Amino acid sequence: MANRSEGRVALVTGGARGIGAATAERLAEDGAAIAIGDLDGAGAEATAADIAARYRVKAIGLKANVAVAAEVEAMVEEIALRLGSLDILINNAGITRDNLIYKMTDEDWDSVAAVHLKGAFLCARAAQREMVKRGWGRIVNLSSVSALGNRGQTNYSTVKAGLQGMARTLAIELGRYGITANAVAPGFIDTEMTRATALRLGRDPEEWKEEMAQQIPVRRAGVPRDIANVIAFLCSDDASFVSGQVIYVAGGPRG
Ligand code: NAP
Repeated sequence: MANRSEGRVALVTGGARGIGAATAERLAEDGAAIAIGDLDGAGAEATAADIAARYRVKAIGLKANVAVAAEVEAMVEEIALRLGSLDILINNAGITRDNLIYKMTDEDWDSVAAVHLKGAFLCARAAQREMVKRGWGRIVNLSSVSALGNRGQTNYSTVKAGLQGMARTLAIELGRYGITANAVAPGFIDTEMTRATALRLGRDPEEWKEEMAQQIPVRRAGVPRDIANVIAFLCSDDASFVSGQVIYVAGGPRG
């Protein structure tokens, strides 16, 4: 829907590629100005430049590690300065460090917790200041079907469940300022993340994807756009009474 996010400024973390890039593109299609914050600064700039050229919106790419408070603060300050505000936050940056519990290292645990949980917390804390000033805001956390439990992902399933609790709590605290907070929980989506998982399992990514698709009720793997479409709705005025919810987007009740 063209123009439904016109005049808004959106930050998509981890938006250089995958679900984040598709979400940035979808929000730009709806008229929002875009900031992409990613560890991969060059990738963030390239994706932003592509979006700016195709959708004729302002789009900037910034290098930032969401797990580092000073970098998040600097990123949000720069967005407010260059784009004028910050109205929409998509907490999308993520990593996996899968291992069965008996092989999972402290580093596997700490790195996943730092990027997903601390990263989302730091970004939400910084972004809500800008949103409260204007009395309008949207926060969407990327959760996962893994929040329901998944073999080899004690770290990841824990943080993805945590991101649901965070969205519910932000919804309660920030609702009075016109800010909604929700979580979107994707099932199997074809991205670099799922391809890397296939390779780690010693599988051919295309074959693995086809196999996964057979277990999904709609009989296909998800694509980043499937997630971006739902996020774009949650970021619109049409969704102003939807807050503190978890929406599974998995081609079935559980992908
Ligand atoms: P992806 O293709 O691996 O993209 C993730 C992006 O996040 C990368 O550009 C990565 O940058 C960036 N990133 C990682 N750590 C960061 C940090 N500390 N600070 C800033 N940026 C960082 O992943 P995806 O599949 O699009 O997943 C996006 C989100 O959806 C994640 O939260 C993921 O957990 C969630 N999700 C995905 C699926 C799926 O099936 N794909 C399912 C459920 C949930 P670098 O390239 O520099 O590392």
